[in-house]
Amino acid sequence: MTTTQEQRTTEDLKALAEQAGRDLEDASALEILQWAAETFGKRFCVTSSMEDAVVAHLASRAMPGVDVVFLDTGYHFEETIGTRDAVDAVMDVNVITLTPRQTVAEQDAEYGPKLHDRNPDLCCKLRKVQPLEEGLKDYQAWATGLRRDESPTRANTPVVGWDEKRQKVKISPIARWTQDDVDAYVTEHGVLTNPLLMDGYASVGCAPCTRRVLEGEDARAGRWAGRSKTECGLHG
Ligand code: SF4
Repeated sequence: MTTTQEQRTTEDLKALAEQAGRDLEDASALEILQWAAETFGKRFCVTSSMEDAVVAHLASRAMPGVDVVFLDTGYHFEETIGTRDAVDAVMDVNVITLTPRQTVAEQDAEYGPKLHDRNPDLCCKLRKVQPLEEGLKDYQAWATGLRRDESPTRANTPVVGWDEKRQKVKISPIARWTQDDVDAYVTEHGVLTNPLLMDGYASVGCAPCTRRVLEGEDARAGRWAGRSKTECGLHG
């Protein structure tokens, strides 16, 4: 008997992820997203930091109207919010904006100002990890724009894997892409990108925790610069 999408157990999803990780390692990004659309339908979404809209664009080709989830931490650059609004206006996607339980002012009142300087792990937990966990609860699978060449911590990213923390299938369709591949796709399809990428930023996160990168640094060197922190907890 075939298991329907709604009947899938956690074990079914985990087995699906592991099998697809092997089967799709050499597939194109579009083929990986077509598999996700066919396998998960509306229980699949894309997350986007609005650094660029490459994965959202690919996913909209595989599944027009696909949900694109954006985490509005309250600390974004104006350019990032503008990119989110432009994606919502011009692409065939359904942008969903998630917000933390507390505004920045409420967080400041409870924890003191500039928690990002004193305890960035807690700040990321409150403003990114918790809202994403709550926002993803009805999905079986989510796609990210992680790439193996971005940093050593991302070098082993599978194209399809199991997200143990959230008990979901995690899809990274452009894991095998290089920055040149991204640039070529952006040019070929006229994909929206965050204007900060043209202004010395190679990876765009929250304003207080992002700086421009220097010649020879890896793309994520400008995130939490001067600290040992390299990831916000969404992908660990
Ligand atoms: Fe807070 Fe910085 Fe994490 Fe954004 S990236 S949630 S400002 S610590």
